[in-house]
Amino acid sequence: MTSPDNGTTGATDLPEYAPIPQSALGPALNDQRYYVGRVERNLYWVTDGVYQSAFLTTSEGVVLFDAPPSIGPNLRSAVDEIASANGVSNRVTHLVYSHHHADHAGAASLFGGDVIRIGHEDTRRLLLRDDDPARPAPEITFRDTYTLEVGGDRVELAWRGPNHTPDNIYIHFPDHDTLMFIDVVNAGWVPIYNVNLSEDVMGYMGSSAIALSYPWTHLISGHLGRLATRDDVAVHQQYIADIEDSAREALASVDPVPFYVAAGQNMWAGVKAHLDTVTDRATAPIVAKYTGVLAAADIEEFTRTTTFQIMQSLRLDRGVGVSRPAQP
Ligand SMILES: [Zn+2]
Repeated sequence: MTSPDNGTTGATDLPEYAPIPQSALGPALNDQRYYVGRVERNLYWVTDGVYQSAFLTTSEGVVLFDAPPSIGPNLRSAVDEIASANGVSNRVTHLVYSHHHADHAGAASLFGGDVIRIGHEDTRRLLLRDDDPARPAPEITFRDTYTLEVGGDRVELAWRGPNHTPDNIYIHFPDHDTLMFIDVVNAGWVPIYNVNLSEDVMGYMGSSAIALSYPWTHLISGHLGRLATRDDVAVHQQYIADIEDSAREALASVDPVPFYVAAGQNMWAGVKAHLDTVTDRATAPIVAKYTGVLAAADIEEFTRTTTFQIMQSLRLDRGVGVSRPAQP
């Protein structure tokens, strides 16, 4: 199987993909290429159609959650627009990092030196490592949980183990019926390459259930043009569970021996032929089932690379299909 746009086509010559379901799309952007909307009461979300950020307007100033550089200065415009409409302060006093990745944090430096930055202790460690002036390390850090109280509003931050990254946290707004949890669920869309570019596959796979264990109606998931619902998370969980089942079936049914016999001394040629065959077999039914259900499910490389990662996690983390010594 090859990618449909395997380096041979230009940006103006994309393959014919399935139409994007209307349900996968969000509200129209304004002339400045952003949308800002109320989630509940004084909690707002901002999107450029690809990335999402959020902010609380409080009596003591604005608390910003993530600063994606693709939205960039439009974050300032969105805060100003809402603050002016509601007659509240537009001064950003706090910035909370969901995780250290530059695509969600790279506009952090736009909000000046006197902003109080808050994040997980591993976010601080990773940002100090990355040494990127656009992403100053948080001064306030926590290990397990942190309650942020500003101007009478309360936000509960929690680290529940590694998933997309070692430091990706759950941001719960208990008084706004909302959870912010970034880079795991794409509402109405498949995850992109390699389990949505995630580092801990088992942590990623388990994180949706943790997200659902919180009470909320609105999920700010970090990407694309609309908020997510609990149903979106359920569909995502089913997609991942189907991949796991399909990968287990393929591991059990593809006999590796003939590939290694055919490869002779080139062991890695045998590995490639075997694992490619398992991955292709596991991927095909998922692409067929989810095309028309999740947007971009027919971009096979996304499901294929995610399936490969989950199949490897089944082997390496859980020992599925890995031969064991006979028990005495
Ligand atoms: Zn990320």
